[in-house]
Amino acid sequence: MDRLKDGWFSEVNDLWPGQAMSLKVEEVLFHEKSKYQDVIVFKSATYGNVLVLDGVIQCTERDEFSYQEMLAHIPLNSHPKPRKVLIIGGGDGGILREVVKHPDVEQVDQCEIDEKVIEVSKKYLPEMAKSYSSPKLKLHVGDGFEYMKKHQGEYDVIITDSSDPDGPAESLFKQSYYELMKTALKPDGMLSCQGECLWLHMDLIKKMLTFCKNLFPVTDYAFTTIPTYPSGQIGFVLCSKNPDTVFREPIRRLNDVEVQQMDLKYYNTDIHKAAFVLPEFARKVLRSQESVNGSNNGEANGSN
Ligand code: SAM
Repeated sequence: MDRLKDGWFSEVNDLWPGQAMSLKVEEVLFHEKSKYQDVIVFKSATYGNVLVLDGVIQCTERDEFSYQEMLAHIPLNSHPKPRKVLIIGGGDGGILREVVKHPDVEQVDQCEIDEKVIEVSKKYLPEMAKSYSSPKLKLHVGDGFEYMKKHQGEYDVIITDSSDPDGPAESLFKQSYYELMKTALKPDGMLSCQGECLWLHMDLIKKMLTFCKNLFPVTDYAFTTIPTYPSGQIGFVLCSKNPDTVFREPIRRLNDVEVQQMDLKYYNTDIHKAAFVLPEFARKVLRSQESVNGSNNGEANGSN
């Protein structure tokens, strides 16, 4: 609660030293320490209800769709037939809401570590959590890292919607987690993971893409803009076991009617492709790992 002062919430954290996003608070709706983390929901003056875990903004009602739609629909529209999907984390339900929109998806398993996040999201973020009632969902409460160890060759797509690598999500940014995901995927499966921020975490992103390129024939990196994540931007690590995957050229292209029917507010086919175009300062750093794996493709790998 020390981050709530004089009617403002400020997101102060060592992961983004010397800067802090602030939101004006109208009312604190919920505050409790769960088994895993400090959970706050507040009503903001201009961004709707806001979920905060361990002092870090997870989502706001006003801009969440940018992150949820891009993290989910980039891999789903890059896979020829994504029938079985696994979500790790994602307790607010936003990724689940997007995944069940996809017509090919028959089953979604979700493994979230903190039951409390699911509970408060259903109550205070109903638009995000509305698909917890989907008949396609099998919900597991537990650690995503441990869950992954018990599943082999099962999934077409795995989406990791985790909090930052500081707290319960630390293990989800490690090479050993990507090795487990590789095993849990079907032979032509693919994954997308929360990939932090180009302005702040270039070392971590470079490290992750380097080990990904040693594990997968195809690796790429995309990003989206979002006002309430640090520096207004967040990225996605994308890997495929299928050497023919080209993430930046979606297999399933949505026309305007489909975009409307799926109630998409950020994702469309053009922004899917544009999300891979990196600013020069990032391209230069990520390009330097070129030819770690000869068949890897994509901007992050320096192919163009
Ligand atoms: N996109 C948001 C961000 O980057 O800030 C994250 C949103 S979502 C609420 C993150 C979820 O990951 C949280 O509900 C958290 O409890 C869950 N989580 C963290 N570590 C986890 C783990 N090891 N296994 C499963 N879920 C985990």
